Amino acid sequence: MTHNVSVEVTDGFHLVIDALKHNDIDTIFGLVGIPITDLARLAQAEGMRFIGFRHEQNAGNAAAIAGYMTKKPGICLTVSAPGFLNGLTALANATTNCFPMILISGSSEREIVDLQQGDYEEMDQLNIARPHAKAAFRVLKAEDIGVGIARAIRAAVSGRPGGVYLDLPAQLLAQTIEAGHAKRSLIKVVDAAPRQLPAPDSVERALALLKEAKKPLILLGKGAAYAQADADIRAFVERTGIPYLPMSMAKGLLPDTHAQSASAARSFVLAEADVVVLVGARLNWLLAHGKGKTWGKPKQFVQIDIAPTEIDSNVAIAAPLIGDIGSCVGALLAGLDSAGIDKPDAEWLGAIAQKKEQNTAKMAALLDKNPDPMNFHSALRAIRDVLKEYPDINLVNEGANTLDFARSIIDQYQPRKRFDSGTWGIMGIGMGFAIGAAVTSGKPVVAVEGDSAFGFSGMELETICRYQLPVTTIVFNNNGVYRGTDVNPTGGADVAPTVFVKNARYDKMIEAFGGIGYHATTPEELTRALAEAIAAGKPALINAVIDETAGTESGRLTNLNPQSAAKK
Ligand code: ADP
Repeated sequence: MTHNVSVEVTDGFHLVIDALKHNDIDTIFGLVGIPITDLARLAQAEGMRFIGFRHEQNAGNAAAIAGYMTKKPGICLTVSAPGFLNGLTALANATTNCFPMILISGSSEREIVDLQQGDYEEMDQLNIARPHAKAAFRVLKAEDIGVGIARAIRAAVSGRPGGVYLDLPAQLLAQTIEAGHAKRSLIKVVDAAPRQLPAPDSVERALALLKEAKKPLILLGKGAAYAQADADIRAFVERTGIPYLPMSMAKGLLPDTHAQSASAARSFVLAEADVVVLVGARLNWLLAHGKGKTWGKPKQFVQIDIAPTEIDSNVAIAAPLIGDIGSCVGALLAGLDSAGIDKPDAEWLGAIAQKKEQNTAKMAALLDKNPDPMNFHSALRAIRDVLKEYPDINLVNEGANTLDFARSIIDQYQPRKRFDSGTWGIMGIGMGFAIGAAVTSGKPVVAVEGDSAFGFSGMELETICRYQLPVTTIVFNNNGVYRGTDVNPTGGADVAPTVFVKNARYDKMIEAFGGIGYHATTPEELTRALAEAIAAGKPALINAVIDETAGTESGRLTNLNPQSAAKK
């Protein structure tokens, strides 16, 4: 006699979704195709949110910014080879910026790829991802999916966060496995980013250095914003009375209107300070590598960072403080009184206040001008004044001049509300970050975009309209990259390399998908359009016409352009 015992089975597809859900991951940003279409369908059927994009780079950027906002890895799902490569830029950007994300890509059959026998979308993705990711893994057996997802999550968020690549061959997704065995193979990651307490002697060393300081300065970076230690950071700044500078994505950790903000005296404080406390900010190119003219007088650094190898990467660090920012700032706070740290000298604070006043008056005069056609300043004044009414709005910002000017003109009032070109100075994050921020926060987003920067992700207007996201995109249209007035010196028919179609109507693009388009040529029109668009909470695009002669080459980064000998 034979028994026909039916065994309940599941497969790789289900197990991937189960493993993500088991770890409270509820959203996937991606783009379907072979071999992951059914994975996306299943995710949706199982109650996850699947946000489908038109290009994987934008899906990856959305995942990365979701990771930055939540401290949970954002998930990007792509097809093999070309889709994977499209997502790779976002993965590399996430790693560079210390954003936790996981790029999950389907891949072709290992046996064929490894023998280079010419498979559909053949590519050795794992090895290509490795140098661009904090970690990279491949799962070959269904019973290892739980481990693969757990390792990817832990790698993305523990220590210094970053991008992780997870390779899922097509064969794996279809593999069957006994359901009970599958369930037992799942791992719920416990304490994925454990606190890392600083060593007590490091805390003492940092406090001793602070005590000696005559002209102290605190520099807040996006690591400080990421850490979500907002109350302690604010208490540290306010109790010490030390002036602070926020890096662009750390704006809003304390409101930009805070009396201790030294932003309006940036060059002065960087040059003059004697002790600088770096809180989650690297001394990379954005800070002139901690040396040279920008940094003027000799100084000593306290550096708070979770990555020990960051220390001394550019200049000597007198007092490294290694640990998570919450724990490190908490330890400093606890030691302030016993270290006997007083408020900084009135002379230092007075000099800063005076410099701030002068620079603010200069800026106000610039902002008050009303040139026709409008320029970056008059347009940004209009935007700044509308956004003041929405302190919790998300702001995405990229471009050359559009980025430089918006960063200093638009105030932030809350932490983790400004998302921009970041550590690489990358163009193309615009619509990906905007979608990621809207989906993650459920709050409105305003994306202030240079016309060139917008072009890299503009097709995602369809995505914004499809999901009816409250995203208002403002395109600063000056007819070209940097500006629209360059000419072809040969007199030939081709326009200059930096020039776009004149008087383009970007507002018509969003109308094609049912969004609302606005055409604004004056600050008043821009004010009206923006106020209306935010109030409507619907997808909108404002084509803001900027003087085509306004804008300098590479914005404030002119010094990074190599000069040809012929030009010198
Ligand atoms: P910015 O561009 O704003 O100056 P960076 O991206 O250069 O900021 O620096 C962020 C730093 O913060 C990185 O060196 C990273 O290791 C660190 N970091 C990120 N998260 C944490 C955390 N939770 N605790 C401590 N340091 C962190």
